[in-house]
Amino acid sequence: MRLDRFLCETTDLTRSLAKRALKRGEVSVNGEVVRGAATQLDAADKVSWLGQPLALVGLRYVMLNKPAGVECSARRGLYPLVTELIELPKAERLQAVGRLDVDTTGLVLLSDDGQWQHRVTSPARRCGKVYRVSLAEPLEGEALAAVVERFAEGLLLDGEEKPTRPAELRMREPRVAELTLYEGKYHQVKRMFAAVGNHVEALHREAIGELSLDGLAPGEWRELSDAEVALF
Ligand code: URA
Repeated sequence: MRLDRFLCETTDLTRSLAKRALKRGEVSVNGEVVRGAATQLDAADKVSWLGQPLALVGLRYVMLNKPAGVECSARRGLYPLVTELIELPKAERLQAVGRLDVDTTGLVLLSDDGQWQHRVTSPARRCGKVYRVSLAEPLEGEALAAVVERFAEGLLLDGEEKPTRPAELRMREPRVAELTLYEGKYHQVKRMFAAVGNHVEALHREAIGELSLDGLAPGEWRELSDAEVALF
């Protein structure tokens, strides 16, 4: 890797600030001041900036209990970002794996490992996402049986070309459903219930595959263990 890129990866310096730091003689490689931005580094090279050793961060895997009012996107809009809750270096590089809406709470996985993200979200892997859904209208009896069947068969949502994949619905209370999806279309849970004449009042993701929130309070996060990463 080029030295200026390494500086950008390991510090908050932009490429032009990294070049200036190099010109000022602030950067050393294996104890020698190096000024060339294009210097190629080997894995064993020890780089310091202003006397501080620098190291590349590896791939990170995090679970968060997302509170309401926080956004899963990469750019800040009206709301704070989920990555602002994660106290890790370069947390802004983590991406939410399967986004939740601003008002949805619960389990969000974040990572900077694109292949792992794909394994979690790919419908082909049939990794179930379990949602607790609070409904405006109670769902019981024959009406419930009809909705269970429609969700199991798949329904065509407005603006989509393909029906939803089979989903599993069961009721915990007349107005509280548990819905398991094996895909993640935009606003999918809300649109599915709207399609059967109901309305989602609150939505919480409890689990993704075998991972659940595991006692994390809203706003809390932790890194996944190697065994948890290997689940996907
Ligand atoms: N489905 C939704 O409608 N919203 C979410 O946040 C997640 C799934």
